[in-house]
Amino acid sequence: MIAEPVVNVSFNDAKQYASCYNSPFAEFMVNSYGYNARLLKFDGIRFDTVVPPNECNSLAHGCGWYDDDGNLWPSGALFSEREAWKRFYRIFHGGEVTNGIIYTPNAAGPLMAVHSFSDHHEIGEGYYMHATTLKDAYPPDMVRANMNGEAYGFRAENNLKGSPLLVNHRMTALLVNGVEGRMMDYRSWRPGYEATAIPRSASGMHGIGWIAGTRSSWGIGRMLTTSKS
Ligand SMILES: [Zn+2]
Repeated sequence: MIAEPVVNVSFNDAKQYASCYNSPFAEFMVNSYGYNARLLKFDGIRFDTVVPPNECNSLAHGCGWYDDDGNLWPSGALFSEREAWKRFYRIFHGGEVTNGIIYTPNAAGPLMAVHSFSDHHEIGEGYYMHATTLKDAYPPDMVRANMNGEAYGFRAENNLKGSPLLVNHRMTALLVNGVEGRMMDYRSWRPGYEATAIPRSASGMHGIGWIAGTRSSWGIGRMLTTSKS
């Protein structure tokens, strides 16, 4: 069914393989979720990052392209994935499930050709995950374009993964920009408040003040005020 190539994208202890949306795997995948939703009566899917699709250079799929020197390069099966997501949406919105949900996390900004058929978007593990300063992690223009789904008409949350910036840094930067932060589950937390929140004394609202106090390092000194005047 998956003619070629199945790409090994394993990491650490996770063994996983990517296949191409231009292969019959795409139909098998979507049909399987629909069948199992009916059989097992689940009402939604939370994917990991599966958008954008893995690049593929299989000529058997119609993927790939040659440059002027005859080198074969990969391409992304964007439109095939879009068709798969259309069908996902139909399955979970009246096909097999009424008022279900398609939840599509992504390690980058929105890819609306596909994400427009998701109900919910989560962004994480992007350029900000290991940034050392707020200025690098949460540049306001990028935050508003990539992390706040309002411009695209869907709900988006930003997860709080990463270091050295920790929960208070991330949550306050998001709140200032009108973005929702998704709290991590307990497996991702180190124990103790001090391990996950800097500055140690900052509560949520104090965090806003802290952001304002360090706004020059964030690069938005003239854009942000916490006063009511
Ligand atoms: Zn392919």
